[in-house]
Amino acid sequence: MSYRAWFQCINPECGQTYPLNSIVYQCKRCDSLLEVQHDLKALKRRSAASWKKLFEKRYMSNEWPYGSGVWGKKEWILPEIADDNIVSLYEGGTNLFWAERFAKVLGLNDLWIKLCGNTHSGSFKDLGMTVLVSQVKQMISEGAPIKAVVCASTGDTSAALATYCAAAGIQSIVLLPRGKISIAQLIQPISNGALVLYLDTDFDGCMRLVQEITKDETLYLANSMNSLRVEGQKTVGVEIVQQFDWKAPDVIIIPGGNLGNVSALGKGLMMMKDLGLISKLPRIVVAQAERANPLYRAYLRNFETFKPIHARKTLASAIQIGNPVSIQKAIRTLKQFNGIVEQATEEELANAAALGDRTGMFNCPHTGVALAVLIKLLKAGKIDKSERVVVISTAHGLKFVEMKVKYHQRKLDFPCRHVNQPIELPARLDAVKDALHKALKKRIRFDV
Ligand SMILES: *Cc1c(COP(=O)(O)O)cnc(C)c1O
Ligand SMILES: [Zn+2]
Repeated sequence: MSYRAWFQCINPECGQTYPLNSIVYQCKRCDSLLEVQHDLKALKRRSAASWKKLFEKRYMSNEWPYGSGVWGKKEWILPEIADDNIVSLYEGGTNLFWAERFAKVLGLNDLWIKLCGNTHSGSFKDLGMTVLVSQVKQMISEGAPIKAVVCASTGDTSAALATYCAAAGIQSIVLLPRGKISIAQLIQPISNGALVLYLDTDFDGCMRLVQEITKDETLYLANSMNSLRVEGQKTVGVEIVQQFDWKAPDVIIIPGGNLGNVSALGKGLMMMKDLGLISKLPRIVVAQAERANPLYRAYLRNFETFKPIHARKTLASAIQIGNPVSIQKAIRTLKQFNGIVEQATEEELANAAALGDRTGMFNCPHTGVALAVLIKLLKAGKIDKSERVVVISTAHGLKFVEMKVKYHQRKLDFPCRHVNQPIELPARLDAVKDALHKALKKRIRFDV
């Protein structure tokens, strides 16, 4: 069976196409973003039941490269790539965590957290990077003049790019906003041998520079305006549905910054609907930090206009973005999925993340934004307690320990409601017994 895919301009009045091995990130005719389009007619020749069976057979198996959560769906991603050129670190296949205790605090009974951070570089960015770096390897093998792969990043894209490039033996270059990413995020690309450019600007500033330098075709652009990333990331929705035995949940909440991931989530779910694997679409909620909320502001204007903003410093540093590249795709997704956008303050996101931790998670601040938005939408009656809700956790909490340390030391400028502090005491039995006696008298109770 031969399946095909190509780049296509997302502007419906243009629709220009380009082969996947051309070095192009935006439409040359109208400047719009591109997306990967698939030959749906060919894909439809296989029944929905047969796709499900194939994906189940491959899921988490040892059969290279199909055990990867991304490459197990290869025909839907990059059907024509040679297996030899696939650069996979067995990304995807992440735990769908049943948040029973957190849900009880909220009065919900069907809440799940998709732990996308439980993967090689610690964030969902691996899902897209495996696809992009594999395509680069294929293009280099065909003689393309690519010398290095470059990205601007709020910390997780650069970590993923650096590790996949290191595994493939390709040079990576990352542009990072100085002081605006965590130490773990800085040391990842350093360790993986990337050329690290640490710049006195914010993410939007790095993004402008990277678009300039990648006009040189020997430097290939790895930001999510390159729609190869979106192709890999779209498996997250497919995987969630598969983990529920092919039933779509009612609501999916996802934190949004540059808005590539929400576009990807929608694309995967829509493909499942087009190919008959699901009949109903979930509602999609984008959660933004109040200090970096351009999409939320546009949502309040019914998406009639969009204005970039200056994003202010937020604990949710990976979504501190004022001018999201994938804005048009995200708005399209929200319209298709009966979408909602809600925001969370610093206090709300930090307390929600900490409460999640107290019920067995280990959240990054972006997941905190999504959990805070869940709490707000429940209170507002926009999500019903009977609904099945999935929160997409975008990164591992271990990448963001500085924020957690500050929280539990009460060094943030708002009340930290779920603080847990170590008890310092001399190493004597009587002191330990006394401390235990006092501590165990208290009952643990949480509320929101
Ligand atoms: C990249 C990232 C996001 C935002 O994803 P976008 O595609 O930019 O909207 C959210 N959380 C984490 C941890 C990220 O690394
Ligand atoms: Zn175009």
